Amino acid sequence: MDQSLWNKVNNVDLLKEVSKGKEVIWINENLEKTDEAMKQIQITMANIDDAEARLARFAPFIEKVFPETKPQHGLIESPLTAIPHMQKQLEEEYQTIIRGRLFLKQDSHLAISGSVKARGGIYEVLKHAEDLALEHGKIKLTDDYSAFATPAFREFFSQFKIQVGSTGNLGMSIGIMSAALGFHVIVHMSADAKQWKKDLLRQRGAEVIEYNDDYSKAVEIGRKNSDADPSSYFVDDENSVTLFLGYAVAAKRIQKQFAEKGIVVDAEHPLFVYIPCGVGGAPGGVAFGLKQVFGDHVHVFFIEPTQAPCMLVGMASGLQNKVSVQDFGLSGQTHADGLAVGRASGFVGGVMKHLISGILSLEDYHLYDLMRDIVNTEDIFLEPSACASFWGPIQLKSKEIQAYIQEKGLSDVMQNATHIPWATGGSLVPAEIREEYMHTYLK
Ligand SMILES: *Cc1c(COP(=O)(O)O)cnc(C)c1O
Repeated sequence: MDQSLWNKVNNVDLLKEVSKGKEVIWINENLEKTDEAMKQIQITMANIDDAEARLARFAPFIEKVFPETKPQHGLIESPLTAIPHMQKQLEEEYQTIIRGRLFLKQDSHLAISGSVKARGGIYEVLKHAEDLALEHGKIKLTDDYSAFATPAFREFFSQFKIQVGSTGNLGMSIGIMSAALGFHVIVHMSADAKQWKKDLLRQRGAEVIEYNDDYSKAVEIGRKNSDADPSSYFVDDENSVTLFLGYAVAAKRIQKQFAEKGIVVDAEHPLFVYIPCGVGGAPGGVAFGLKQVFGDHVHVFFIEPTQAPCMLVGMASGLQNKVSVQDFGLSGQTHADGLAVGRASGFVGGVMKHLISGILSLEDYHLYDLMRDIVNTEDIFLEPSACASFWGPIQLKSKEIQAYIQEKGLSDVMQNATHIPWATGGSLVPAEIREEYMHTYLK
């Protein structure tokens, strides 16, 4: 990084550590009261309600086409699971005490595409399908949307294209749902995308174009091709408000799960949430929804790999998406699928500026240790990137987060806290790949 850039950044000392590939914890000096922060943001609870209602309209279609969603009547939602054995394991292995209770949000086990992208990605495809159907007089808002599963609708959608650039999981969500509706869907896959994800997509009827380049290149070419074609719609992972709202609905759903489980969130019962971050859409959307619902009582931390901490460098430097991890001499490469992103979304960075509590980074090898821990203690399989979420509870002991807890006046109520590592993916990983992961970076 050239000297002139160092002169422009905040948090120079911290970013020097980041540029050496060190693990860091950044606490957001710009965190504001939620009410104040929300006044500066154009997106509202009404927008989230609208997204939730749209997903409800599509539920009869989803239930019909994806029978695995039958138990939840066509809603794509994941379990919230107490993980006391994992909590004990983390406390012993990392010599810490996690005050409060640890619950896993298993977006890893979301129906249809097995990752958090089943929220935003699928939502955006459904919204586009609905827009087209309304525009062409094929449906009314009050109709039964199982009509979308009929040959007539498939025939109608076959004249339209949907395109997306992806490192894997977003492509899976967009690809599977678009193909199910009858769209011609093209997924532009970066070089790091796993072979099994490409195979699965082709099997479901998506066209997959492979690049010998990174995510940005796949997005760039995908966008260019799509823009040149009037029948084509491009899903923009970096700037899409629609995608963001699909993720945000998670907060309303978890509110219901809390009620069922008797989990209270208030001034005496803080909620701590830890979410792995790539370009920022998924963690940003979920975090935004949580702040809308739980306000100042929820504390959201993002987790990123030490070689690809794009949101961290953007936020900590104050330069947002004007800087990339490469500007700080980092490779942008990581074992963590979905997190190998060099430059964060400027849109999400702007929304999260006064809402996020902090960002932590960790080295890749921890992901495999944590993955083995959650398999061995709770018999739950997560993909390595999702395991970044456990880094939050482990680092509660750090001086940075301890200072945060004290400053927020939470020291005396942490025994009542609910901690949620947000597990972002894993259930579709094939058995032979799981086996390979179980032996990776084994000490
Ligand atoms: C995409 C993804 C993320 C991060 O989401 P972004 O919207 O890219 O920030 C985290 N974990 C997994 C498994 C993902 O697929």
